[in-house]
Amino acid sequence: MDAAREALSTYFGYEAFRQGQEVLIGAVLSGRDALGIMPTGAGKSLCYQIPGIVLPGLALVVSPLVSLMKDQVNALIDAGVRGSFLNSTLTPGQQRTVLARAEAGTYKIMYVAPERLADPLFREFASRVEIPLIAVDEAHCVSQWGQDFRPAYTGIADFIESLPKRPPVIALTATATDKVRRDVSALLGLRNPECVVTGYDRANLKFGVEKLNPKQKRTRIAQFIAAHSGDSGIVYCSTRKDVDGLSGWLAAEGLPVARYHAGMNKAERDDAQERFINDDAPIMVATNAFGMGIDKSNVRWVVHYNMPKSLEAYYQEAGRAGRDGEPSECLLLWCDGDVSTCRFFIEGDSEYATQQPEEAEIARAAQRRMLEAMVGYCHTTGCLRRYILNYFGDQTPFGNGSTECGNCSNCLGEFESIDVTDTARACVKCVRELGGAFGKTLVADIVRGSKSQRVLEGNFETLDSYDTVSDSISQVKEVIELLASEGFLQVSEGKFPTVGLGERSHEAFMEDFTFSIKQMKKSTLPKKGKA
Ligand code: ADP
Ligand code: ZN
Repeated sequence: MDAAREALSTYFGYEAFRQGQEVLIGAVLSGRDALGIMPTGAGKSLCYQIPGIVLPGLALVVSPLVSLMKDQVNALIDAGVRGSFLNSTLTPGQQRTVLARAEAGTYKIMYVAPERLADPLFREFASRVEIPLIAVDEAHCVSQWGQDFRPAYTGIADFIESLPKRPPVIALTATATDKVRRDVSALLGLRNPECVVTGYDRANLKFGVEKLNPKQKRTRIAQFIAAHSGDSGIVYCSTRKDVDGLSGWLAAEGLPVARYHAGMNKAERDDAQERFINDDAPIMVATNAFGMGIDKSNVRWVVHYNMPKSLEAYYQEAGRAGRDGEPSECLLLWCDGDVSTCRFFIEGDSEYATQQPEEAEIARAAQRRMLEAMVGYCHTTGCLRRYILNYFGDQTPFGNGSTECGNCSNCLGEFESIDVTDTARACVKCVRELGGAFGKTLVADIVRGSKSQRVLEGNFETLDSYDTVSDSISQVKEVIELLASEGFLQVSEGKFPTVGLGERSHEAFMEDFTFSIKQMKKSTLPKKGKA
């Protein structure tokens, strides 16, 4: 461990290891496997870089991020570490050179893409050189339960076993749901790994959720920016069109905004990023293409203009606020349309174009589950921070000793709770009567006693649940959504989802069943006109 500490200060200039780093590095140096689950920014890279430096031979780092390998290696070289990478961005000639140099002992650390491990030439190479450590970065990619499943990751275990001498393996990820955690350990073939899970809580972030229609969203953002005047922040939109529209509108209001999405050319993107980082344009309006690898510590707020498709994505993007530890705000604006948009993407084909049909179906199922959790976050009346931490498997109480943070829009009571027990029960009853082959609009129409053609043609006015509810159509639909996200109902797969009974449906008929939805207080809704 002394050598490790010396390397920490010589190469990286740091005084002390952070929480978790010391345990993981110690395990690897003593020949054990290790699994580190730490949020973004916690310092996972050093957990394999330091052992790579200290141990004799060439440490291999498996990473899915081909586009980032060069930067990572350049950073190592700048620090005086002999690093290299091997991926398809190099010409065949360059690849041969890298391998020859590696065999001659030139490098301490080499980044490779997972696909490379199946290459017979690479396997031959690997059996000839001394490999004291294999690090698997973004290890959640091995799991079909996560958002970034990479089939090539499932070949890593086979590669490790093919080596003449099995080295210790360290797996690292920021995604920590229970299923993913178990998958990582099993599918990478880790042997009795030392596990470290560091806290996910970001105590300096205040979380908020507001349900607003698209028009209200714009006004709200202008209001929010005015209230955080002079601060740097990011607005995430889910489409390029929204980025262009919103950034144009904010610029016309005289605000210092930059925009960023994958439809812009590289020079434009680099320029936007530069202006944001230098605080020339402290407000960034961007798609999720923006942010990977950007280390701007004074981002004071992150507003989501649309609901992202998973809590993983949300927490990662929102977590770009307050890296310096100062109080910062994360606000999520959403509307029913956002949920439909996410569903549409999940059920469409474009996302899975490169995958086999079975793989695409597995990926879809995983995305549906993740979306339900995200929708649940929007609806929950409990502590938002607790909801996020529980999702990531972090059960630790807050610093105040409570299970409520006292600093999110729910804990602060910035909403009203409306009892909709009767409506909820009527909807479940209606679905039970229908037998589950119809969409949520029809269910809402029936319980509201609509005389629409569909209702009359289907003879649905004879159902017991017909005309038993007087809430607005949008409220009934919201109740159905929430019932689905909490397991009372189930929304089917496919482009035209139908509603069926969920595993908890029977609870809706119990005497002590209660159900409530939250609604923004009228006083906190944005007023029309300028903020
Ligand atoms: P992760 O991969 O977990 O997202 P990184 O490995 O990129 O995080 O590290 C995040 C930042 O923290 C980097 O700037 C890194 O240099 C810094 N860092 C890592 N370990 C330490 C340490 N022990 N002391 C100080 N800074 C550290
Ligand atoms: Zn809270």
